[in-house]
Amino acid sequence: MKMISYVDDTPSIDIHDFRPVPGARFVIKNPEQVRIGVTWTDCTLGGRRPWFRCPQCSHRCKKLYPFVCRSCSKLRYRCKSESPRDRAIRKAIRHREKFGQVDGGLLVPFPPKPRYMSEEKYQRGLDESLRLDAIAIGLFEVPKKSRGGN
Ligand SMILES: [Zn+2]
Repeated sequence: MKMISYVDDTPSIDIHDFRPVPGARFVIKNPEQVRIGVTWTDCTLGGRRPWFRCPQCSHRCKKLYPFVCRSCSKLRYRCKSESPRDRAIRKAIRHREKFGQVDGGLLVPFPPKPRYMSEEKYQRGLDESLRLDAIAIGLFEVPKKSRGGN
């Protein structure tokens, strides 16, 4: 059986942990002394952003797991492996959290209107929540009841 590894279970190094200076190249201390390049891109509002260059595929990336990019280390995002039902539930709960819900999932009523929010925006959010709840609940498999008799 093939084991699936997820990004959030794997140690990583982030480019921002190194605070690189423009033009920097550095060697990360691992047994193979892999040389990892750093490249820079210009940001829209000014400044420059550093990136690792993956030593295997030269892909530009923010994180290495631990010394190659996510693609080369064959890691997956956990949310991409969710079932359609789990994804729908997570989406519906995330929508409710925008309106102040802290816990309870789909089993509690939609939260009351926050004081700062307009009535129109709240109503749109409530309508959307009903739609998302219906999708999530619709994906539950209802066990068929066996009818009595023969
Ligand atoms: Zn790579």
